Amino acid sequence: MVTTTSDYIIIGAGLSGLTSAYHLNKSGKTDFTILESRDRIGGRIVTQNGIDFGATWFQTHHETVIGLLDELGVAKYHQYNQGKSVLVYSTMAPEHYFENDPDTPSAYRIKGNSQALIQALASPFSKKIKLNTSVTDIHETKNGIRVETDKETYFAKKVIVTIPPLIATRISFTPELPSEVNNAMNKTHTWMSNAIKVGLTFKTPFWREKNFSGMVIGQVGAVTELYDHNDDVNSHYALMGFVNEGLRDVSEENRKQRILDYLSKYLGAEVLDYLTYQEKDWSQDKHTSCETIKSIYMSPSYGNPVFAKSYMNGRLRLSGAETSAIHGGYMDGAIYSGINVAEKFME
Ligand SMILES: Cc1cc2nc3c(=O)[nH]c(=O)nc-3n(C[C@H](O)[C@H](O)[C@H](O)COP(=O)(O)OP(=O)(O)OC[C@H]3O[C@@H](n4cnc5c(N)ncnc54)[C@H](O)[C@@H]3O)c2cc1C
Repeated sequence: MVTTTSDYIIIGAGLSGLTSAYHLNKSGKTDFTILESRDRIGGRIVTQNGIDFGATWFQTHHETVIGLLDELGVAKYHQYNQGKSVLVYSTMAPEHYFENDPDTPSAYRIKGNSQALIQALASPFSKKIKLNTSVTDIHETKNGIRVETDKETYFAKKVIVTIPPLIATRISFTPELPSEVNNAMNKTHTWMSNAIKVGLTFKTPFWREKNFSGMVIGQVGAVTELYDHNDDVNSHYALMGFVNEGLRDVSEENRKQRILDYLSKYLGAEVLDYLTYQEKDWSQDKHTSCETIKSIYMSPSYGNPVFAKSYMNGRLRLSGAETSAIHGGYMDGAIYSGINVAEKFME
């Protein structure tokens, strides 16, 4: 079995791992390898047909996202929210319509979709990323850390584990991590790992033409949240939202029919003339989820202090959105922890 040696190994090519790599690279620490189990980079950030099936929005208080986008020269723009929005709040009462307050800025989106951030981050060191490489074991040795994967064996002086803590419990650590770390990992819900997203593309932005914002909100129907998902110059037309988790276990065909019926009821029959229709149930994605999720969104607390410590004699650190004490779960937390862990390892 081939053995590759580097100063640093980063496990996971999601936003956090790529941010750490970007910071190491920027600081002249270029001897690193990134191991990623998927056949793509980005983790919970994925764009298909111009639709973000993972992370999409951020707010003005997400300062590390904004700082990183500015540094990389990736532009942002506001989520479209003009016109009538629909609130479906009861199965018995009629729907309500409302206008969004023009003085309250909507959330930001990334120009070129969220994948633009991932591509800009990874481009300086894309050759150092090993895709389709799943880490199975992490062993502390006399001089460093040995990382076993389903392919090669890797060796490094320092290792950053960026995979969601609950997923990281699948890895065998030798010596074992302290029990308080294991407990914290087991209790840390992976943010949004229960979400089901739906995205549709269209020939025309028919909802805008009818003075709808594209926003349809309510917990009682097939889609709990829907938004306009056109690009920043309004040349690619799409709607994207979250599917009611009550439809997780029905057949694909049945779910699609109920989603289309629901959306056409509130936005018009034009919904049925979609160009593409796609869903993504993150609970079925083994690289993000390992839970049997049957319930609604949880209210997890992130950034357990045990995640901020180093292990294996200072050679192993944990990172990722769920480990972050600031804006845990969000892109902002992923970037914050990615920067933080890289800085700690360069001290
Ligand atoms: C549907 C959805 C909607 C979201 N919406 C928003 C939003 O609007 N705004 C926002 O701020 N955040 C949102 N988020 C959260 C956001 O996506 C995350 O905060 C962020 O992407 C996490 O980055 P990360 O690097 O910490 O983790 P991840 O992206 O999960 O990266 C971890 C990486 O590790 C890899 N991996 C797993 N196991 C192994 C292994 N054994 N060996 C090697 N590699 C492995 C994974 O494939 C993955 O690439 C959303 C998430 C989802 C799923």
